[in-house]
Amino acid sequence: MRFVRVAVPVPLGQGFTYSVPEEHAARAQRGARVLVEFGRRRVLGVVMGSSEETDLPLERVKPIQAVVDDEPVIPGELVDFLVELARYYLAPIGEVVRLALPAVERAAAEALDEQGLLEGARVATVGRMVQVARAIGEAPPELRGQASAVFEHLRALGPTPLAALEERWGNARDAVRRLARAGAVVVERVSQAVDPFFEEPAARDAAPALTPAQAAALGAVVAALDAGVARAFLLHGVTASGKTEVYLGAVGRVLESGGGAIVLVPEIALTPQLVARFRARLGEGIAVLHSGLSDRDRYSMWKRLRSGELRVAVGARSALFAPVRELRLICVDEEHDGSFKQEEGVRYSGRDMALLRAHRAGAVCVLGSATPSVASEAAVRAGRLERLRLPARARAATRLPEVEVVDLRRTGPGPSGHRLISLPLHRALERTLEAHGQAILFLNRRGFAPSVVCEGCGEIAGCPSCSVALTLHRERGGRLTCHYCDYSTKLPEACPKCGSSRLALEGAGTERIEELLATSFPSARVARLDRDVAAGLKSARVLERMRRGELDILVGTQMVTKGHDLPEVTLVGVLNADAALGLPDFRAAERTFQLLVQVAGRAGRGDAPGKVIIQTWDPEHPAIRASVRHDVDGFVERELRDREELGYPPFSRMALVRVEGTDERRAEAEARRLAAVARRAATPGVLVVGPAAAPLAKLRSRYRFRFMVRSAERAPLRQTLLAVARAPFDRRIHVVIDVDPVSML
Ligand code: ADP
Ligand code: ZN
Ligand code: ZN
Repeated sequence: MRFVRVAVPVPLGQGFTYSVPEEHAARAQRGARVLVEFGRRRVLGVVMGSSEETDLPLERVKPIQAVVDDEPVIPGELVDFLVELARYYLAPIGEVVRLALPAVERAAAEALDEQGLLEGARVATVGRMVQVARAIGEAPPELRGQASAVFEHLRALGPTPLAALEERWGNARDAVRRLARAGAVVVERVSQAVDPFFEEPAARDAAPALTPAQAAALGAVVAALDAGVARAFLLHGVTASGKTEVYLGAVGRVLESGGGAIVLVPEIALTPQLVARFRARLGEGIAVLHSGLSDRDRYSMWKRLRSGELRVAVGARSALFAPVRELRLICVDEEHDGSFKQEEGVRYSGRDMALLRAHRAGAVCVLGSATPSVASEAAVRAGRLERLRLPARARAATRLPEVEVVDLRRTGPGPSGHRLISLPLHRALERTLEAHGQAILFLNRRGFAPSVVCEGCGEIAGCPSCSVALTLHRERGGRLTCHYCDYSTKLPEACPKCGSSRLALEGAGTERIEELLATSFPSARVARLDRDVAAGLKSARVLERMRRGELDILVGTQMVTKGHDLPEVTLVGVLNADAALGLPDFRAAERTFQLLVQVAGRAGRGDAPGKVIIQTWDPEHPAIRASVRHDVDGFVERELRDREELGYPPFSRMALVRVEGTDERRAEAEARRLAAVARRAATPGVLVVGPAAAPLAKLRSRYRFRFMVRSAERAPLRQTLLAVARAPFDRRIHVVIDVDPVSML
């Protein structure tokens, strides 16, 4: 008797054991989807492994009911990786496996349904079945009229959907039925062909002559690829040093050798240019995975990767789970970027897990950044990552931009009257416009005014469900909106508390800056890029207008800081550099520094030199001072020292346990109880801090408490967390264990 361990989609455990009836033995392979009974439901699971025996009493082991796929949907290498990922994050295997699963093709689902196996099961399917007529025999005698025409058509042009025949011949269905009865035609159900995702092939281009630094970096990567060893590199190149050329060269090499590759980028909607460059260089063998894909297209990409027709997957963090064949290379562009961390469901880090998957697959991993994470720096020093440097911009004429600091405490507003458009910034904008250059202004706040305060009683308009102030958005007719839960209400005429009508708008968001710019620079073409104007792929359009020179000033949130290559941008302004410094987060300085260097890196990428203006209330802050000098090494050195002193990552391993509930007292009590469980389980060297209310104490009507577990070594940390994970808790409370947390809020 053979038994299999099956990952089922429930938030529990590491898989369940089922027996394999003889008729399914051949297909119930590791990585194949199977239909099993779970409790009183039927669910779709994935075979994780098999064995000849089980410790369970045989009468309690149920048989699997059906195997969905002829070939395992998840390749073995990926199954191994998912198991390790689940272990690392203490996440239920069934939820982890879902990260890599495609929907079921409708044809397979219908086959199961006909056997009565789908009753009670919820199965997501893709693909529409269409009826297609195909000529099989000789033309029957006495064929006349439409039937004759239809038959000739099928013979000449091959199988055709009935719907298409009907468009041409009104009685096509009838005709086909008669032809079928005569044995001349069969009608089949096939899954509809999928639209090609790309309308037109990108024009091909050739690699430029590499700079010596690019050639050396690529040489090191190629040597590792050719040797077939699992090496990991940190490609540390200043902004516009040509890191992308190194990825392209490495991927090209992998393709030559018949292998596959994955390229992860922070936000694919913001990097259409990068995707275009990949397609232009490497041709059509690339799957681009992004959130704008329909289920059907996503499935098509998945299937073509699985079959080996496509060998490169480019996408945001979830592309890490692409079923690429013969995986030999994973590149992570802008590895420092926070968006590689998934903040819901399975809280994994795409960057960290790229290293793991590559290592386990014997593949090469390249992490690229102009501002490597402190974690990567520590890994270089520990010998786990090999640094490859690109010390200068790729195009000989371009240098890093000059950076000027504007001390907001001492500098007044320019003609716009608003402090955040200081006089030096105003003048710089004027000069840029005169020279027909473009400017990018960055402000990490969307909306018009970040808060509305009553001057009568000091009351701040807050969200009823979250412990945050409401942001005023002019655009939607003057509404106060919560940026965390999307609650929104009309701006009241008077304070609901004291009735005063003196309501003050505090601070400025991108909407207000855009308006100020439009008034102060009436002839300039100003646009805004933030989540309000540009959801998903729409942002690509704004960037395209910028690229085409149809805009003069682009103001926006982090969206404008990402790796755009806009050669006409000569001025970058950071309106309030310290906005993120005050956050209760040990990475606040690191993030601010990275953001400043990245946004500064948008300036002066073309022929004209660039200039950056950083406005700050705290010009002496180390993160700001280092960014002025583009001093990545100096900043990291200092940051590493601080972290070591405080025992923070990368000098320790950390997890946050978040406990949330609608009843504040109950949530707090459970947090205390679980922290006590952690303390009892902690071995010496494991530190449990808290619980305390989270900085964002209430979110979507849930009160949030948390405690931190820290340890120099991973194993004891894991033991402590396992004790927490296994402790029974009040089901009205939501408990999340976040290993290597990125957001501390
Ligand atoms: P990064 O990814 O490091 O920010 P990019 O790869 O976007 O840099 O390169 C910046 C610019 O330099 C792009 O316009 C690119 O086409 C150009 N570039 C890169 N490498 C070379 C090279 N070897 N010769 C000429 N131009 C190059
Ligand atoms: Zn009031
Ligand atoms: Zn809210």
